[in-house]
Amino acid sequence: MRWRDLRRSRNIEDRRGGRSMGRTRGASHSGSLGGTGMKVGGGGILLLLLASMFLGTDLTGLAGGGSASGIGNTAQAPRSGSSNLPANDDTAQFVSSIMATTEDVWGPLFRQAGRTYTPPKLVLFSDGVRSACGYTSSAAGPFYCPGDNQAYIDLDFFDELRRMGAGGDFAGAYVLAHEVGHHIQNQLGLSMQVQRRQRSVSKTEANALSVRTELQADCYAGVWAHHAHKQFQLLEPGDLEEGMNAAAKIGDDAMMRSAGRRVRPESFTHGSSKQRQTWLYKGLQTGDANQCDTFRPNS
Ligand SMILES: [Zn+2]
Repeated sequence: MRWRDLRRSRNIEDRRGGRSMGRTRGASHSGSLGGTGMKVGGGGILLLLLASMFLGTDLTGLAGGGSASGIGNTAQAPRSGSSNLPANDDTAQFVSSIMATTEDVWGPLFRQAGRTYTPPKLVLFSDGVRSACGYTSSAAGPFYCPGDNQAYIDLDFFDELRRMGAGGDFAGAYVLAHEVGHHIQNQLGLSMQVQRRQRSVSKTEANALSVRTELQADCYAGVWAHHAHKQFQLLEPGDLEEGMNAAAKIGDDAMMRSAGRRVRPESFTHGSSKQRQTWLYKGLQTGDANQCDTFRPNS
């Protein structure tokens, strides 16, 4: 991906390094937020957690490091005209650039539709984080919290993607764009509708609704990639393959299989590898958010 010369986002909050913060009252999740407090996880993240349980791999160690170098403590001057992230923090700079492209893509698309786009903030954290959705450990993967309009990521998740065979910068960008996809749903009022419906149906039906929600976020990620490439010539040879490969690796069936479990479609929450690839590609190819109607009965 060609991202280095692009602008950085101003909507990144760096909460890494403050590990002791917010842990003392770990039990007091903000349950009062009720319906808005529901988290929407990234690609197969809940299953990643399950996978870690079944594989006995301790993904909770994702935060890693812990050196005295003070990750996230910006002693250095920020790169001029960019965000407040350390200039030598390549991953954070990458994430900031990608988030900026999502702003530059979705802003105009919303305007064309007669709407106003308010970009989400992306919070970088390590170990765990407190949000309107409660306390979330890094092991749960990146997520979007509709209650505070923010996406959250521990950047060590990119290493985890690599370990899953879903490496490459575009794979990482796809994950970010997917979380932004949940923000689009929230902006359009979809998240609330789905959550309301999920409360009144069976577990299997609620899972099916979750799959439709996740596939739509994948499709929106594709729409972003389409326009980001048009505007910024973002993609390089191999990027598309990285994205499609990542979509396959984080499909529910692939995650279940790699965890040594039986594939049970009724317990899917994010969609199969095939479905995730299909919807990501649909968005990529058309660049049309209206094509992302995963809630249509026979889609
Ligand atoms: Zn998601």
